[in-house]
Amino acid sequence: DAGRLDEFGTTIFAEMSAKALVTGSINLGQGFPDTDGPVWLLEAAADAIRSGLGNQYPPGIGIPELRQAVAEHQRATYGLDPDPDTEILITVGATEAIAAAVLGLTRPGDEVLTFEPYYDSYAACIALAGARRRVVQLRPQLSEPTEPTEPTQLSEPTEPTEPTEPTEPTEPSHQSHQSHQSPPSATHWGFDPDELRAAVTAETRLILLNSPHNPTGTVFSRDELQFVADLAREHDLIVVTDEVYEHLVYEGAHVPMASLPGMAERTVTISSAGKTFSVTGWKVGWVSAPPALLAKIRAVKQFLTYVGSGPFQYAVATGLRRAQQDRAFYPDLAGTLRSQRDLLVAGLSELGFRVLSPQASYFALVDLGGSVDPGHPARGGDPQSRGTGAADWCRALPESSGVVAIPARVFYDSEVDRYARFAFCKKPEVLTEALSRLRRSR
Ligand code: PMP
Ligand code: GLN
Repeated sequence: DAGRLDEFGTTIFAEMSAKALVTGSINLGQGFPDTDGPVWLLEAAADAIRSGLGNQYPPGIGIPELRQAVAEHQRATYGLDPDPDTEILITVGATEAIAAAVLGLTRPGDEVLTFEPYYDSYAACIALAGARRRVVQLRPQLSEPTEPTEPTQLSEPTEPTEPTEPTEPTEPSHQSHQSHQSPPSATHWGFDPDELRAAVTAETRLILLNSPHNPTGTVFSRDELQFVADLAREHDLIVVTDEVYEHLVYEGAHVPMASLPGMAERTVTISSAGKTFSVTGWKVGWVSAPPALLAKIRAVKQFLTYVGSGPFQYAVATGLRRAQQDRAFYPDLAGTLRSQRDLLVAGLSELGFRVLSPQASYFALVDLGGSVDPGHPARGGDPQSRGTGAADWCRALPESSGVVAIPARVFYDSEVDRYARFAFCKKPEVLTEALSRLRRSR
C-alpha cells in the first residue's frame, strides 16, 4: 500500500482517448494535431532511419547536431547562449525532462511550488520524488469574457494585479447576434502575488512554472515572471519552466524565464518538438540549464531511459535549423492554430457556452459554472443527473454528443469543477463536425 503513485490511477488522457475510440467520438480531449508535421520533416526522419543514423543508441546527452540546433534556437529566438555540450540535454519528450528535473533537483520532503490548474505530470513527478506539492491558484482575469471585444485588446496586466474571483456564471446567451461577432478576446489567468509569496516555506526547493500554460492557454507577462524571478532569487529557489507551447502563441508574447536578468543561472528550461513540429509521437524534448543543474538532471535521465528517439533527433535538428531559416515557419504554425482556435471558440460561444479563449496552446476552456443545468442536454448534460459538475459532464459527453473533452478538475487540488477543456488542434472540418454534433444533441 506504499505506492508513490497510488492516488493517480490512469491518466485522464488515456481514459478519455479510449472513450473516444469506444464511442466513435471526435476526440477534442488529448492535445495532438490531426495533421502531421511538414513532409520535409517526415522525410528527414525516414532518411535518418534509411541511412543508419540513430538506429542504435545515440549519445546519452543527445546527438551533437540536435544539441547545437537547440542552442542555436535559444540564441536566435531569445538571445540566450547555452553551451551545447554542458548546458543542453536531449530527453524523451518534455515529459521525461520534467520527471528528470523534479527527481534530480529535489530531495524527499522538499516542497515544489506550482500553479493550479497544473499539467498532470507535475503532480505525479513530485510524488515520485517523495517531494510535496504546494499550489497557488490561477484565476481568470477578464471580468466579462462573454463580451466580445477587439481581438487585439489584451487582458494582459502590466503588473501582477489583484486576482478576480471567477465571475458568477451568467445565463448562456443564445442570441443570434453572437454568431456575427468576433470571438471573445483572450482570457489571461493570473495569480495573487501575496498568495505566491505566502506559499514559499523553508522547505521550498523549486518553482515549477508553465508558460504558455496548459490548460488555461495563459502567457505569463514579463512582470508576472519578474515577480516569480524575484521570489526565486530572494529565497534561493530553482525555477523549472515548461515552455512546450513557446511557438503556439496567438496573443501576447512569450518571455522565457531564463531571459530575465540573473535568472539563467537558476532556471531549468524545458521544451520539446511535439507541438512546434506537430509530431507529438516522436517524443523529442530538451532541457537547457546551467552545468551544475544539468548534471543532476542528466544523472537521473540516464536511469529513466538512458537515451531515446534516435532517428527523430536527426529530423528535429533539421526541423529547428530549417524553421530558423524559413522566417514564415513559426508565424504560419501560430496562424493556422489561431484560426482553429477562433473557429472553435466562436462555435462554442454560439451554442451558448461561456468560453474562455486562450492566448496560446492547443486548448480552450469552457466555464460550465460549477454545475450543469440538467435542462440543457445540448450542453451534454444528462437530464436525469443532478448537481453534476464539469467532470461528470465531460464523462457523459461522448455518449450524449459524440465529442470528447477533458475535465479540468483533474488539474486542480482545490475543489474547482467548472471547466471543460477542448482541444482545437484539429482540421477545420473536424471542429465544424464536433460543433454540429454538439448542436444536434441540443
Ligand atoms: N508539458 C505540457 C504543459 C504539456 O501540455 C505536454 C503535453 N504535450 C507536455 C509537457 C509533454 O510534452 P512531450 O509530449 O514532449 O512529452
Ligand atoms: N499534453 C497533451 C494534453 O495536455 C497530451 C498529454 C498526454 O497525452 N500525456 O492533452
